[in-house]
Amino acid sequence: MMGKTHVSVGVATALLVTQPVTLGGFSVAVIGGAIGGIISDMEVRSNPKFRDALHARFIALGLTVVFLLVDVITQGLIITSFLENSSLRLITGSAILIALVIFGRSTSHRTFTHSLLGLISLSAGVWLLCPPLTTAFVAGFISHVLLDLLNKQPIQIFYPIKKGKFCLKLFYANGAMNTVFLILGIVGSLFWAGRVALI
Ligand SMILES: [Zn+2]
Repeated sequence: MMGKTHVSVGVATALLVTQPVTLGGFSVAVIGGAIGGIISDMEVRSNPKFRDALHARFIALGLTVVFLLVDVITQGLIITSFLENSSLRLITGSAILIALVIFGRSTSHRTFTHSLLGLISLSAGVWLLCPPLTTAFVAGFISHVLLDLLNKQPIQIFYPIKKGKFCLKLFYANGAMNTVFLILGIVGSLFWAGRVALI
Protein backbone atom coordinates (compact mmCIF):
# COMPACT_ATOMS: atom_id res chain seq x y z
CA MET A 1 0.00 0.00 0.00
CA MET A 2 0.97 3.65 -0.24
CA GLY A 3 2.76 5.64 2.45
CA LYS A 4 -0.18 7.79 3.62
CA THR A 5 -2.31 4.65 4.00
CA HIS A 6 0.39 3.03 6.13
CA VAL A 7 0.46 6.08 8.42
CA SER A 8 -3.34 6.21 8.85
CA VAL A 9 -3.77 2.44 9.31
CA GLY A 10 -0.67 2.29 11.56
CA VAL A 11 -2.12 4.94 13.88
CA ALA A 12 -5.61 3.35 13.86
CA THR A 13 -4.15 -0.11 14.61
CA ALA A 14 -2.02 1.25 17.45
CA LEU A 15 -5.11 2.97 18.93
CA LEU A 16 -7.12 -0.25 18.61
CA VAL A 17 -4.39 -2.35 20.27
CA THR A 18 -3.42 0.05 23.08
CA GLN A 19 -6.99 1.36 23.72
CA PRO A 20 -5.87 4.72 25.20
CA VAL A 21 -8.28 6.61 27.45
CA THR A 22 -5.97 9.54 28.27
CA LEU A 23 -4.27 12.18 26.13
CA GLY A 24 -0.91 10.71 27.19
CA GLY A 25 -1.85 7.25 25.95
CA PHE A 26 -3.33 8.74 22.76
CA SER A 27 -0.06 10.60 22.02
CA VAL A 28 1.93 7.40 22.51
CA ALA A 29 -0.36 5.48 20.12
CA VAL A 30 -0.21 8.17 17.43
CA ILE A 31 3.60 8.51 17.52
CA GLY A 32 4.32 4.77 17.81
CA GLY A 33 1.66 3.84 15.25
CA ALA A 34 2.73 6.47 12.70
CA ILE A 35 6.44 5.61 12.93
CA GLY A 36 5.84 1.85 13.14
CA GLY A 37 3.43 2.11 10.22
CA ILE A 38 5.93 3.74 7.92
CA ILE A 39 9.36 2.59 9.03
CA SER A 40 9.15 -0.56 6.89
CA ASP A 41 9.35 1.59 3.76
CA MET A 42 12.60 3.27 4.85
CA GLU A 43 14.31 1.78 1.77
CA VAL A 44 11.77 3.34 -0.64
CA ARG A 45 13.40 6.28 -2.45
CA SER A 46 11.28 9.29 -3.18
CA ASN A 47 11.69 10.81 -6.65
CA PRO A 48 10.23 13.91 -8.37
CA LYS A 49 7.53 11.83 -10.10
CA PHE A 50 6.61 9.74 -7.10
CA ARG A 51 6.40 11.75 -3.92
CA ASP A 52 4.17 9.45 -1.85
CA ALA A 53 6.99 8.17 0.38
CA LEU A 54 8.20 11.73 1.04
CA HIS A 55 4.70 13.04 1.81
CA ALA A 56 4.03 10.13 4.17
CA ARG A 57 7.31 10.81 5.99
CA PHE A 58 6.37 14.46 6.43
CA ILE A 59 2.95 13.47 7.80
CA ALA A 60 4.51 10.97 10.26
CA LEU A 61 7.11 13.57 11.27
CA GLY A 62 4.42 16.24 11.73
CA LEU A 63 2.30 13.95 13.90
CA THR A 64 5.38 13.00 15.93
CA VAL A 65 6.39 16.62 16.54
CA VAL A 66 2.85 17.73 17.48
CA PHE A 67 2.21 14.85 19.88
CA LEU A 68 5.72 15.03 21.36
CA LEU A 69 4.99 18.67 22.20
CA VAL A 70 1.68 17.60 23.76
CA ASP A 71 3.57 14.96 25.75
CA VAL A 72 6.19 17.42 26.97
CA ILE A 73 3.59 20.06 27.92
CA THR A 74 1.46 17.52 29.80
CA GLN A 75 4.49 15.72 31.28
CA GLY A 76 3.26 12.56 29.60
CA LEU A 77 4.56 9.01 29.29
CA ILE A 78 7.26 9.69 26.68
CA ILE A 79 9.05 12.61 28.36
CA THR A 80 8.79 10.84 31.72
CA SER A 81 10.37 7.72 30.20
CA PHE A 82 13.21 9.76 28.69
CA LEU A 83 13.91 11.48 32.01
CA GLU A 84 13.83 8.25 33.99
CA ASN A 85 15.83 6.09 31.57
CA SER A 86 19.59 5.75 32.05
CA SER A 87 21.73 7.56 29.50
CA LEU A 88 23.40 4.24 28.64
CA ARG A 89 20.01 2.81 27.65
CA LEU A 90 19.09 5.90 25.61
CA ILE A 91 22.44 5.85 23.78
CA THR A 92 22.24 2.07 23.14
CA GLY A 93 18.65 2.32 21.84
CA SER A 94 19.52 5.27 19.57
CA ALA A 95 22.66 3.56 18.25
CA ILE A 96 20.75 0.34 17.47
CA LEU A 97 17.98 2.23 15.66
CA ILE A 98 20.42 4.37 13.64
CA ALA A 99 22.43 1.27 12.65
CA LEU A 100 19.26 -0.62 11.65
CA VAL A 101 17.96 2.28 9.55
CA ILE A 102 21.32 2.63 7.76
CA PHE A 103 21.33 -1.13 7.13
CA GLY A 104 17.63 -1.24 6.20
CA ARG A 105 18.00 1.51 3.62
CA SER A 106 20.73 -0.53 1.92
CA THR A 107 18.51 -3.62 1.54
CA SER A 108 16.13 -4.48 -1.30
CA HIS A 109 12.48 -3.46 -1.05
CA ARG A 110 10.23 -5.73 1.04
CA THR A 111 13.08 -7.81 2.50
CA PHE A 112 14.66 -7.00 5.92
CA THR A 113 12.37 -4.07 6.65
CA HIS A 114 9.23 -6.19 6.14
CA SER A 115 10.52 -9.25 8.01
CA LEU A 116 10.20 -10.81 11.45
CA LEU A 117 13.89 -10.03 12.03
CA GLY A 118 13.21 -6.38 11.17
CA LEU A 119 10.22 -6.28 13.52
CA ILE A 120 12.12 -7.82 16.45
CA SER A 121 15.34 -5.81 16.06
CA LEU A 122 13.66 -2.43 15.44
CA SER A 123 11.20 -3.01 18.30
CA ALA A 124 14.11 -3.86 20.61
CA GLY A 125 15.71 -0.51 19.69
CA VAL A 126 12.44 1.34 20.38
CA TRP A 127 12.01 -0.53 23.68
CA LEU A 128 15.50 0.50 24.81
CA LEU A 129 14.96 4.12 23.75
CA CYS A 130 11.40 4.61 25.00
CA PRO A 131 9.55 1.56 26.44
CA PRO A 132 6.03 3.13 26.38
CA LEU A 133 6.20 3.43 22.56
CA THR A 134 6.94 -0.27 21.98
CA THR A 135 3.41 -1.72 21.79
CA ALA A 136 2.14 1.02 19.47
CA PHE A 137 5.26 0.70 17.30
CA VAL A 138 4.82 -3.09 17.01
CA ALA A 139 1.12 -2.64 16.14
CA GLY A 140 1.97 -0.09 13.42
CA PHE A 141 4.74 -2.30 12.01
CA ILE A 142 2.54 -5.40 11.86
CA SER A 143 -0.28 -3.40 10.20
CA HIS A 144 2.21 -2.34 7.49
CA VAL A 145 3.32 -5.89 6.71
CA LEU A 146 -0.28 -7.21 6.74
CA LEU A 147 -1.38 -4.46 4.33
CA ASP A 148 1.56 -5.13 2.01
CA LEU A 149 0.78 -8.85 2.06
CA LEU A 150 -2.46 -8.00 0.24
CA ASN A 151 -0.45 -6.57 -2.68
CA LYS A 152 1.11 -8.15 -5.72
CA GLN A 153 4.79 -7.76 -4.75
CA PRO A 154 6.15 -10.61 -2.57
CA ILE A 155 7.49 -10.00 0.96
CA GLN A 156 10.55 -11.80 2.32
CA ILE A 157 9.05 -12.27 5.76
CA PHE A 158 11.68 -14.74 7.02
CA TYR A 159 14.67 -12.61 5.87
CA PRO A 160 17.56 -13.52 5.56
CA ILE A 161 16.07 -16.89 4.52
CA LYS A 162 15.24 -16.51 0.82
CA LYS A 163 12.52 -19.16 0.78
CA GLY A 164 9.00 -18.28 1.80
CA LYS A 165 8.59 -14.98 -0.08
CA PHE A 166 4.90 -14.43 -0.50
CA CYS A 167 1.92 -12.11 -0.97
CA LEU A 168 -1.80 -12.62 -1.51
CA LYS A 169 -1.91 -10.75 -4.85
CA LEU A 170 -5.32 -9.29 -4.06
CA PHE A 171 -4.80 -5.59 -4.81
CA TYR A 172 -2.41 -3.16 -6.46
CA ALA A 173 -0.52 -1.02 -3.92
CA ASN A 174 -1.94 2.18 -5.42
CA GLY A 175 -5.42 0.90 -6.37
CA ALA A 176 -8.90 1.59 -5.03
CA MET A 177 -8.42 -0.59 -1.94
CA ASN A 178 -5.50 1.63 -0.96
CA THR A 179 -7.93 4.56 -0.76
CA VAL A 180 -10.45 2.46 1.18
CA PHE A 181 -7.82 1.54 3.80
CA LEU A 182 -6.58 5.15 3.93
CA ILE A 183 -10.10 6.38 4.73
CA LEU A 184 -10.77 3.55 7.21
CA GLY A 185 -7.56 4.46 9.05
CA ILE A 186 -8.43 8.17 9.20
CA VAL A 187 -12.03 7.52 10.32
CA GLY A 188 -10.88 5.00 12.96
CA SER A 189 -8.25 7.41 14.31
CA LEU A 190 -10.70 10.35 14.42
CA PHE A 191 -13.29 8.15 16.14
CA TRP A 192 -10.78 7.29 18.85
CA ALA A 193 -9.66 10.93 19.17
CA GLY A 194 -13.31 11.87 19.79
CA ARG A 195 -13.64 9.10 22.36
CA VAL A 196 -10.57 10.28 24.28
CA ALA A 197 -11.77 13.90 24.10
CA LEU A 198 -15.15 12.98 25.58
CA ILE A 199 -13.78 10.93 28.48
ZN1 LIG B 1 5.92 -1.72 2.57
